[in-house]
Amino acid sequence: METINTNVLIVGAGPTGLSLACQFIRYGVDFVIVEKKEGVTPFSKAIGVHARTLEIYEQLRLAGRATTEGAIAGKVRLLEGGEVLGEVDLSNIGEGLSAYPYMLVLEQSKNERLLYEYLQSHGKEVLWHAELESFSQTETGVTAQVKNLTGESQVIEARYLVGCDGPKSLVRHALGLSFQGSTFERLFYVADVQIDWKFSHDALHGCLARNSVVAFFPMKGENHYRIVGAFPEGFDNDEGEVLFEEIERRIKDEAEIALEITHVDWFSTYKVHTRHVNKFSEGRCFLAGDSAHIHTPAGGQGMNTGIQDAYNLAWKMAYVLKGFAGERILDTYNEERLPNAKRLTETTDRMFSLAAGSDWFLNLIRTTVFPPMAKFILSFDIVKGKFFRLISQIDINYRNGSLSHHAGDGPFEVKAGDRMPYFLVNGKSIYDTLREPKFHLFTFTNSKGDHQRMRGRIESEFADLIDYQVVPLYPHVAEVFGTTRPFNVLLRPDNYVGFMSQETGLSGLRVYLKEVIGCPLESSSRFLPVRGG
Ligand SMILES: Cc1cc2nc3c(=O)[nH]c(=O)nc-3n(C[C@H](O)[C@H](O)[C@H](O)COP(=O)(O)OP(=O)(O)OC[C@H]3O[C@@H](n4cnc5c(N)ncnc54)[C@H](O)[C@@H]3O)c2cc1C
Repeated sequence: METINTNVLIVGAGPTGLSLACQFIRYGVDFVIVEKKEGVTPFSKAIGVHARTLEIYEQLRLAGRATTEGAIAGKVRLLEGGEVLGEVDLSNIGEGLSAYPYMLVLEQSKNERLLYEYLQSHGKEVLWHAELESFSQTETGVTAQVKNLTGESQVIEARYLVGCDGPKSLVRHALGLSFQGSTFERLFYVADVQIDWKFSHDALHGCLARNSVVAFFPMKGENHYRIVGAFPEGFDNDEGEVLFEEIERRIKDEAEIALEITHVDWFSTYKVHTRHVNKFSEGRCFLAGDSAHIHTPAGGQGMNTGIQDAYNLAWKMAYVLKGFAGERILDTYNEERLPNAKRLTETTDRMFSLAAGSDWFLNLIRTTVFPPMAKFILSFDIVKGKFFRLISQIDINYRNGSLSHHAGDGPFEVKAGDRMPYFLVNGKSIYDTLREPKFHLFTFTNSKGDHQRMRGRIESEFADLIDYQVVPLYPHVAEVFGTTRPFNVLLRPDNYVGFMSQETGLSGLRVYLKEVIGCPLESSSRFLPVRGG
């Protein structure tokens, strides 16, 4: 078979690999994506899609379809002993913080389908039944052997390889990266079912039980729910060996609710692991998604985090391949995403232990201390806002990373390394103006100064790289940024702030592009790409 040559070999077409492929389409990067299975997953698996993921989907024009096909988790209803203890409205929990101020329930199978269809609609295809067997790398590229259905081996040569090949990642093993952490002792179950019971379908139901929490997530379709819970410690069946009858008995015992399960779409049992790699890359090979970090299902972070790893890596790799950035920018992928993976494993572990831990103290908090306070605590908007920021991933920042240039951000509330805050301009989300796969330079001002000159210079010098916009400094915008004086914000292509300044010229921009991004600028400072993509 003839060798395939490409810029990037993506291994694995789960949500992470498919997202990376979609981003490469945006940036016009050539890639090959291989997957050992025959198609996208038919199983629901992850069901929580958060605001930050929807912001990324919006750039792919997929957010509308995702929200139509999914269900918004509108309320949380706490139950104890089969009775309602309290109810909290979640439908607009993140109002003012994102155009998607809620958690969307949309199965992983549907997310993968959306991403796959985006790929196909742009003339790309996944190589299904193609399993990476081995690979080697040199200073200039990677050579991989991929086996097809008939056992034939195909050689693929690429400039870079990205292992989006899940928790058992061959790529990670071959690179010799560690994957340390722990495994939760108890066995968990998940089931997608139809239920007959007295509660309305508009809420996530959490039953505070003696041994853990049993959660019922409303899914699209009448009486359709995802149920998640745990077997008690010492339950000795291995993963995959449990019959549904056993799970149903457990649900009824723990939840203490009169309910009939009338149909089972899918169920599974699993052990919960918490692990992350010591490094997200080695040479020209990178890891993203579950191949680099796995955590408890608390907060539904897994799929969302993989999508964001891909989003972080895609623009950096694209810019290096196009000659817009120096290769060292690729080191910032590990620099930004490893601390995030570490933080995530810690916070999801804490949330999870509280919900499913089995020692007497956690039982006491869950069944005695928490219930009377829960409704009261959750009624505060400030608590809801904090919870939304944490869970929706909009609060992740890269302030400590080397792409965040802090020299001019002193006077501002927003700092280099923060996600672009969400606000409206003339009734429209600022994110509507961030769809081009480029850097975005904004001047926020009310003056009618000579922005045409600035625009002209940017268009003549940096047209391929930067999109320039002037936005009125409305009072609510001034409040978000913490200043009423005109200022500039440079956003990276993933909509994180690179730097902020109050200067009127382009010198700060040139320094940032040249010294931080490694962008080749001629002595005249004109932008000069060195290679074609
Ligand atoms: C029951 C359950 C519930 C969950 N709930 C949530 C939730 O609510 N929210 C959330 O965000 N996350 C949730 N998760 C986690 C989520 O499913 C994972 O985080 C997500 O699937 C990770 O995506 P990925 O693409 O990184 O890896 P995977 O989905 O594991 O995809 C990896 C792909 O690589 C392929 N592959 C592996 N090796 C090779 C090879 N050598 N060659 C070619 N292909 C290969 C595999 O076949 C697979 O398709 C849940 C998981 C489970 C199991």
